[in-house]
Amino acid sequence: MEFKETVYTDTDRCKGCGLCINFCPKQAITQSEHANAKGYNYVEVDDEKCIRCGACYRVCPDYVFEIR
Ligand code: SF4
Ligand code: SF4
Repeated sequence: MEFKETVYTDTDRCKGCGLCINFCPKQAITQSEHANAKGYNYVEVDDEKCIRCGACYRVCPDYVFEIR
C-alpha cells in the first residue's frame, strides 16, 4: 500500500519538549540542531521512516503536526 499523506511540521510552534519523539513508534522524529524563531530546537520528521500513524499529531500540545 502506498501512503499518500505526508506529515508536515509547523516548526515555529514547537517548544522542543520531546513528547512526540518519545511517542513515535518508528523513531522517525529527531530534534534539529537549529532553533526556531522562539529559540527552541524544533523537530523534524524523516519521511522514509514515518508510517503516518498520527501519534505525534495526537500528543503534541502545540499543534505542530499536520497530516494531509
Ligand atoms: S506519524 Fe507516526 S511514525 Fe510518523 S512521525 Fe508521527 S508518530 Fe512517527
Ligand atoms: S510534542 Fe510538539 S512541541 Fe513537543 S517537541 Fe514535539 S512537536 Fe515540538
